[in-house]
Amino acid sequence: MAEERSIFGTYVHSEHEFVRGEGVRLFQADGSDHIDFYAGIATSSLGHAHPHLVACLKEQADKLWHLSNLYRIPGQDKLAERLCANSFADKVFFANSGAEALECAFKTARRYHYDRGEPERINILTFEGAFHGRTLAAIAAGGQEKYLEGFGPKAPGFISLPFGDEKALDAAIDDETAAILIEPIQGEGGVREVPKEFLCHLRQVCDEHGLLLILDEVQTGIGRTGKLFAYEWAGIEPDLMALAKGLGGGFPVGACLATEAAAAAMVPGTHATTFGGNPLAMAVANAVIDVVTEDGFLDHVNQMSIELAQHAAELVDTYPDLFEEMRGRGLLRGLKCRVPNTEVSAALRGAGVLVAPAGDNVVRLMPPLVVTSQDLREARQRMDEALAGLADDGGQAKRDEALQPAAKA
Ligand SMILES: *Cc1c(COP(=O)(O)O)cnc(C)c1O
Repeated sequence: MAEERSIFGTYVHSEHEFVRGEGVRLFQADGSDHIDFYAGIATSSLGHAHPHLVACLKEQADKLWHLSNLYRIPGQDKLAERLCANSFADKVFFANSGAEALECAFKTARRYHYDRGEPERINILTFEGAFHGRTLAAIAAGGQEKYLEGFGPKAPGFISLPFGDEKALDAAIDDETAAILIEPIQGEGGVREVPKEFLCHLRQVCDEHGLLLILDEVQTGIGRTGKLFAYEWAGIEPDLMALAKGLGGGFPVGACLATEAAAAAMVPGTHATTFGGNPLAMAVANAVIDVVTEDGFLDHVNQMSIELAQHAAELVDTYPDLFEEMRGRGLLRGLKCRVPNTEVSAALRGAGVLVAPAGDNVVRLMPPLVVTSQDLREARQRMDEALAGLADDGGQAKRDEALQPAAKA
């Protein structure tokens, strides 16, 4: 029975209705709980209703919600200084989302070359399997046909190259190239990690040709991989970087980080936003940074990451008919499935664990960074229950198919 709703039909969602969250758990009205390894797509980085985030949001809510960026917002200075002190960056522009943070990075990259007397340099090289959001520029950057179809001409200036292909990259660079854009780990694309050597190659190529390296750390940033930023694992630094998801712990916020040189051309009038960096968003994002930069916090993430990887690897070993391999880094892990990933995620949801499907037939395990060993063990038990059932069904289905090959058509 199709339900009539006054909402665009852009989402197909599950029948679950969560009314409350606490830590890694989500609760329905009847009190039943789910362990949340979906985390609002790696966004509820500190779990649900984190006391420090709640306190900071409430405190700010009583004082001031919104100004305009034509007034100084002290929370922006505080957050920007902290992001810069902990990264390659010298300057930050605050936005509301990942796509907007990337839009700022694209404009900044083009304006950088324009300002240096090379306005023809507008092209941004990207990689197959990428995901950069859903605005017109972001779907052009992502380059995926399924997101571009029916929305008119693809915004010019984005050239998609085979993943990790050095030769194709070197051949693609010309006088109109402005920048290279990449996710250190493709999230939506199926938790595909870019080899360290390739990231180093990109940095080198950018230096040789005067291009800007733009990293999309919307999903990988703010501790998700066990470092504050995933690029730290490769020992390189970008010129521009987009953040969002985990930065707000569930409050909408995005940020474009830049070196002094990259940001120099973004003078008054070149870019703006009404809501970006408003006092509420800054209060929450600063609270997230309080927690994530606390002594020992990333050690915790790295310890949990070892344990999550262990559980995930054991699942691959235990259910070879369901899973091919484990991928990823930190608390961004993927299981490449041999059966449809939507079946796996539905079975896990039925057993009380939320996971996120991704491209390349992968399910993502992305627990809040505050997850504990006990949470991981409990999630593993629930997963084992669901997967044992699914493996049995799968085996049965295969036997049925073998008996009645004609029934398939
Ligand atoms: C989610 C995501 C985006 C888009 O972020 P929105 O806030 O949905 O606009 C961009 N890049 C990556 C890598 C993402 O995971």
